[in-house]
Amino acid sequence: MTRHQPEKRVAELRNLLNQYSYEYHVLDAPTVSDAVYDSLFGELKKIESEHPELVTSDSPTQRVGNELKGGFAKVEHRTRMLSLNDVFDPEEVRAWVVRMDKLLPGHKREFFADVKMDGLACALIYEDGVFVQAITRGDSYVGEDVTNNVRTIANVPLRLRAEKGYEHFLQRRTEIRGEIVMLKKDFDALNEQRRADGEPEFANPRNLAAGTIRQLDPKLVAARPLHFRAYDLFRDDADEIPTNMYAYEALSALGITRNREASVFSSLDDVMKFVDHIGQIRHDLPFNTDGLVIKVNNRAQYRELGVVGKQPRGAVAFKYAAEQATTVVKDIVISIGRTGAATPVAVFDPVVVAGTTVRHASLHNADEIARLDVRLGDTVVIFKAGDIIPQVESVVTELRPKTSEKFDYEKALAEQYPELEFERQGKDVVYRVKGTSGDLILKRSVEYYASKGALDIDTLGEKNVVALVDAGLVRDVADIYTLTVDDLLQLDRFAEISANKLIDAIQDKKNPPLEKFILGLGIRHVGAQTAIDLANKYHSIDALQNTTIEELEQVDGVGKVVAESILAWFADEDNERLLQKFDELGVHPHYEQKTGKLVGQNFVVTGTLESMGRDDAADKIRALGGTFQTNVAKDTTYLVAGGKVGASKLKKAEAYGTKIIDEQAFLQLLES
Ligand code: NAD
Repeated sequence: MTRHQPEKRVAELRNLLNQYSYEYHVLDAPTVSDAVYDSLFGELKKIESEHPELVTSDSPTQRVGNELKGGFAKVEHRTRMLSLNDVFDPEEVRAWVVRMDKLLPGHKREFFADVKMDGLACALIYEDGVFVQAITRGDSYVGEDVTNNVRTIANVPLRLRAEKGYEHFLQRRTEIRGEIVMLKKDFDALNEQRRADGEPEFANPRNLAAGTIRQLDPKLVAARPLHFRAYDLFRDDADEIPTNMYAYEALSALGITRNREASVFSSLDDVMKFVDHIGQIRHDLPFNTDGLVIKVNNRAQYRELGVVGKQPRGAVAFKYAAEQATTVVKDIVISIGRTGAATPVAVFDPVVVAGTTVRHASLHNADEIARLDVRLGDTVVIFKAGDIIPQVESVVTELRPKTSEKFDYEKALAEQYPELEFERQGKDVVYRVKGTSGDLILKRSVEYYASKGALDIDTLGEKNVVALVDAGLVRDVADIYTLTVDDLLQLDRFAEISANKLIDAIQDKKNPPLEKFILGLGIRHVGAQTAIDLANKYHSIDALQNTTIEELEQVDGVGKVVAESILAWFADEDNERLLQKFDELGVHPHYEQKTGKLVGQNFVVTGTLESMGRDDAADKIRALGGTFQTNVAKDTTYLVAGGKVGASKLKKAEAYGTKIIDEQAFLQLLES
């Protein structure tokens, strides 16, 4: 959707983000988390960079966030109060440095980094050492005069201290910029009091601080414990402050609170180590932080780098991985587990949440789909914390396509599994395949895994499987690897020799060829040849597990239905656990690198060949180690043209640099 209608999406995102900004900055009452805002903002930025013609002046990407609320006198800033460009991973930090090196080549660069405080930016003006004015950031050019309110903040000195060597800062104008925050302990105490008084609690320290500073009554402000932490210092003669570290030292000498963590680094690697270190201790800091600010330490270089839009080129804000992100639901596929239970899985545009790429998430059951009212094409909020499995948290209904319809679970079941019947019994939230008991499906799965075409485990045939499952010794396929001779000897069917034989046969199949293992998993629609093709493309279960529908569809014989079935299988939480159990039990399938002169070469055959049929051609290619593909993709080496090549295939081949060869040339490749 994003790709097909960028104009529409851009307009919708812009409206919604402007609404969120208003709620956040003007009303001090955000309705979504910063992570959700940042994620949608990131999407807008991405589309705008791909389609610069769609950028408008009212786009949130073009403005500094804070808006003026009214009620205070407006004051123009002498130097603009800018925002910062966000970066989310080490790669983006490196890219920032590369950009600076291009603009200012040949400079030895020192980096300055400090914890980013989550509060309200404010400039304090001192004349001859005396506090005269406090101005909010406003729209970066003009802010609001909040002097009387800031006067009530205990750690804002009304007169600067005169430490030796810094006396000149007490002459003429000194501007100190920083963040007004509410410390976590003060926020908690306030809320505790409110709970005791039966009043509603405040949502978060940032918005409480911002809301407080913009109160018209200073007495009310004085009753709320605010705190100021500086991050910048300005003098009329910029050369008085050569580096950002010097600015911090001067701030301390003048009696101004600033973060003690701030440090200077000579390499980016050291900056990243600092990023990791703060990442570990940040929850113990006295205020909320979502990242770090990294700047060029030398202020002359910083100024020379200049500003682009609302952000200085010489600094970035590194944001730690958020536990929420937004993405678009492309599909809802249903998997049938070994107990016959149907589990719906939402398939997304890949998105990074809490540092890992998420491509799908279980929607658990029909009730959960109905509760979330999640639909195809919906923009959803994904939540993932630490090691927990990603979940769909909510739907951003404002971004819902006008044509969307409620997801009809029974209809989807009937479409995806036309040959099966499902039922939902009593209070059960899960639909199950009608007429099959869990054990029957489990028995079939184990039997299939052990069968000749798959793992080929000697003597693990139907009768033994039934006995093992009925005795409760095998509750999932991986359990066969936990069996011992003693376990088997409890059963009438086994004697010493037969028990040993079966255990040996099972243990012998701990490193099966990848394609046999894939086949053995019993994924619907994945037969022997598809299993081979999947193994050849992915080389490991991990890679197959992390694939996308688009990539799967490049595999010969894999269309939408098969691709969905594969994806659904891997997205099923039971199956994820099963794979983990195989791994823990030491079952490690291996991929054998193919030999032959066509190894690493991918073929698509189009039209009719005179000398052989399509299947023959596929067999010959595979026999020589090559891969046979259905569609021309990025990695296609040859397009074999039997007759005229269709326009779309031709266009793709040209775009991907695929060589187009005729039948004669193909035969030569096979023979030579
Ligand atoms: P930003 O997060 O990009 O941060 C830049 C600001 O960080 C600076 O201007 C400065 O005021 C401050 N800062 C804190 N510590 C600093 C330090 N040590 N050194 C230098 N600067 C420091 O910027 P922003 O433009 O203030 O606001 C955007 C933020 O507001 C985003 O994080 C966004 O998530 C949030 N937001 C949320 C919503 C919502 O609905 N939840 C809506 C709009 C904006």
